[in-house]
Amino acid sequence: MRRGIITAIRGLGFLVALTVLTAVTQVGGVILLAAWGIACLWRPRGKRGYATAGLFAALYTAASLWVVPPLATLGGRQALPCGLIEDNSVGPRSLFFCALNRHYATPTVGAALTALADDMARSYPGIQVAYLDASFPFFDGFRMLPHLTHDDGRKVDLAFFYVDGEGRPSAMISPSPIGYWGYEQPRLGDPTPCSGDGQRWLARWDLNWLQTLLPERTLHAEATAAMIRWFAGPGSQYGVQGLILEPHLQKRLGVEGSRVRFYGCGTARHDDHIDVSIWP
Ligand SMILES: [Zn+2]
Repeated sequence: MRRGIITAIRGLGFLVALTVLTAVTQVGGVILLAAWGIACLWRPRGKRGYATAGLFAALYTAASLWVVPPLATLGGRQALPCGLIEDNSVGPRSLFFCALNRHYATPTVGAALTALADDMARSYPGIQVAYLDASFPFFDGFRMLPHLTHDDGRKVDLAFFYVDGEGRPSAMISPSPIGYWGYEQPRLGDPTPCSGDGQRWLARWDLNWLQTLLPERTLHAEATAAMIRWFAGPGSQYGVQGLILEPHLQKRLGVEGSRVRFYGCGTARHDDHIDVSIWP
């Protein structure tokens, strides 16, 4: 009886791990299944859990480095640079995005980000464009939670630029270490379409408790606005469909209109990053 309960708990834990890994990394669930299958053959009795965990770590790392990138290109997506080997002008705000295989996009998105970084470097030498979530490596329509979009390799979130210790813009020092959830707050008189009526929006997290824990940073408004304007200017040749930004930042940065829009109150806040959609 007791053994049956333990087996049931283990089975449930395995299913939860499978679901979470698939939701967070797309390929992790399949790799966990493969690791478990090998562990069953290799260690038919005892310590199968440890063997599965060890095999998963090894297989996930190897697959992420050498198997997933070439397979993703068959479906039309490429890994954005992770900045590990090359000295890139485009890189992730955190290696977390690469480690979880959330850094895949169409070659057009990759080319647009490189061109953006090159053009930005003319005004700000050495500047690096930092991306957050892009898409998973495979399958159109596979949702990358918690995003409503990011399911086709054509969307990428970009970090704002903040003022570093020497007064220069840096995208790698956003208040949050992963770029998300450290918000630029509206100023007095700014448009705040999602407040004032007492309504609570399900997917719109203010995370007030977190804001007090994050370091204070000053937005580099000039560089951030230049990045946004680039998409409506030189970047439009890549097929920029739109950028999502909160209304108060659109006003503060002077980038209202053209391709910049507000996605509504029923989605995540976009005053910690900007969401860009690119398809030719
Ligand atoms: Zn986004």
